[in-house]
Amino acid sequence: MRLSDVLSKSITTEFQQVEGFLSNRKLKTGNSKKLTEGKVALNFYCNNCNDQRTFYSGEEIFCIGVNQKTVSIDCVLECPRCGASVQMWFLLECRDEDDIHNPYPYIRIAKRSEKFSEFVSLNTENYGDFTEALEKAKRAARENFGAGSIVYLRKVFERIITQTAEAADPPIETKKSDGKPKPFFQILNPVKERCNIIPSEFAEDGYKLFGELSDVVHGDYDEEEALQKFDAFYRLVTGVLEKIKTNQELITAIGTLGWNDGGEEAE
Ligand SMILES: [Zn+2]
Repeated sequence: MRLSDVLSKSITTEFQQVEGFLSNRKLKTGNSKKLTEGKVALNFYCNNCNDQRTFYSGEEIFCIGVNQKTVSIDCVLECPRCGASVQMWFLLECRDEDDIHNPYPYIRIAKRSEKFSEFVSLNTENYGDFTEALEKAKRAARENFGAGSIVYLRKVFERIITQTAEAADPPIETKKSDGKPKPFFQILNPVKERCNIIPSEFAEDGYKLFGELSDVVHGDYDEEEALQKFDAFYRLVTGVLEKIKTNQELITAIGTLGWNDGGEEAE
């Protein structure tokens, strides 16, 4: 495996062994070195091309020494079709027993950050009006804001379920007789039974998961736990959106309620 392979994958806690990229020579703190370790490739949504694209770095990427165990990497990735760009920054660390300049160090991404231009979004899928909130959720999770990341997901989840209820035929009542919104669980249950939009992976546990995440939002949580559950909740929310996308009747109905599948109404 080469350095660019690790940089081109999603962040994990596992260390991966790579071919040494510093020629077995310590890179002093603050010194930089050009590396030719293959192109970094990551998927983003290109708003220019209106499609998911794999963005690539050039042949050379820049490495700055931090200490024996850590280096920082800078590169710019471009859309291969239109040249829209994303600036990327990575902090790489090696295992305690390694030095990062070793011939075959085990490394992982400790931190990754990106600066998008207006033409690029994080999400590789387009979820219409929900895309932005989903992006914010992911970013918050990556920056370790546990509760914050969950708030965005919960908002999206509640909105989809409510819109689906209103789009169902006949509609599922979302308001009490006094016009106030019903408790969310009283909407979620009939939607789950009638609309078939909860992915099978979550058919049993989706409800439980949502309850746990409500605790997170209402302060009865710890940050660590929120982050651990983030991935599952994100899969539930995007899974529901994917199911809606395959249901033409629902998508037409929901579209008229303000969710536009193309997501092009923004500006
Ligand atoms: Zn493009």
